[in-house]
Amino acid sequence: MTGHDPQTRAVHPPVITPAGSRPLGVPIYQGHLFSFDAADDLAAAFRGPDEAFFYARMGNPTVRSLERLLTELEGGAGALATASGMGAVNTVLMGLLQSGDHVIAQTALYGGTYALLQDLAARWGVDVTFVSGDDPAEVREALRPTTRLLYLETVANPTTHVTDLPAFTEAVRGAGVLTVVDNTFVPLLCKPIEHGADIVIHSMTKYIAGHGDVIGGAIVFADSSVHQRVWEHATELGATADPFAAWLTVRGFATMPMRVARQSASALDIAGRLAAHPSVARVHYPGLPGHPQHEVAERLLPDGAGGVLAFELTGGREAGRTFSEAVDLISLGPSLGAIATLVMHPASTSHRQMDAASLAAAGIGEGTVRLAVGLEHPDDLWQDIDQALRKAT
Ligand SMILES: *Cc1c(COP(=O)(O)O)cnc(C)c1O
Repeated sequence: MTGHDPQTRAVHPPVITPAGSRPLGVPIYQGHLFSFDAADDLAAAFRGPDEAFFYARMGNPTVRSLERLLTELEGGAGALATASGMGAVNTVLMGLLQSGDHVIAQTALYGGTYALLQDLAARWGVDVTFVSGDDPAEVREALRPTTRLLYLETVANPTTHVTDLPAFTEAVRGAGVLTVVDNTFVPLLCKPIEHGADIVIHSMTKYIAGHGDVIGGAIVFADSSVHQRVWEHATELGATADPFAAWLTVRGFATMPMRVARQSASALDIAGRLAAHPSVARVHYPGLPGHPQHEVAERLLPDGAGGVLAFELTGGREAGRTFSEAVDLISLGPSLGAIATLVMHPASTSHRQMDAASLAAAGIGEGTVRLAVGLEHPDDLWQDIDQALRKAT
């Protein structure tokens, strides 16, 4: 470049590729473009998710580090990092379905996923059958020749319903149906591919990134041909991950196994104390013996049932609202999987337009409170919960 005008040289700074040593962590490749010496090499880069980098919507080294980590930890054949959890859900559903296809889904789903399935049904001619998630026989009955996907969540919100993944994946075996599992609530604690899932989805916004500073999603594939198919759609849809968000997620990932283990242990501790409290009518936590799917949780989640629990206050809607406002150390807010503990009363916030009957149909009581346990000491959390319970009673 020497000999050119400074105006020209400023546009072509030296790009350093490390030689003789290597970076210890994952660097951010924020640039979106890569250049080639041979046209054939650029042409080859268009072929699939594991080729050379050329344009960051199709792949980026920082994003690929995250995807490799996800692939390894979920025991898959490949992964895609997406711009959000809903970006992952959309990429999978839009990438694998067409008009006339049939989907079987469990009723207790993340709100955004439920709305998207309704949308696909109303506007794109995809048929959806909802099943309770309690009995694999319902899935066998719902199967049609056009069934393409079975959509499940390992642990559902806010009821902490646990789906028996091996029994459900077994119910569609040999029927040409791909099983998709949203595993956001229990990363690493459950590895759905080991239980027969074909595709695992995460909102990495929650536990994987873990610090409340990233929106991100992940799709992990058991089979590389499905990875290729969905990657092709992902590049058209454009909900792929940004390198900086991917870098923050890799950083958060480092402590995820320890955070989730601690959050699970604290949630079990708090759930036990709540169950013994006179103002609490019922506690929903899969790690407690009274939980309807406790036996399933013992098989699927032997190392901990996650950091989310819910409980019902005897005082109903008013008590739930008062409790959620009376906490001090704990914050009133949506979401989960952050380092700080969050509380939410669905009947006065996310589900406030629902009356007691429609709430009950969704498995939510008027006095149901959700707690997403963070990394504070459980004794400090209990002190805050205990004083808020007194105000709410
Ligand atoms: C939050 C969440 C999503 C959506 O993820 P975003 O990152 O907010 O787009 C999907 N599924 C579950 C279970 C979630 O909790």
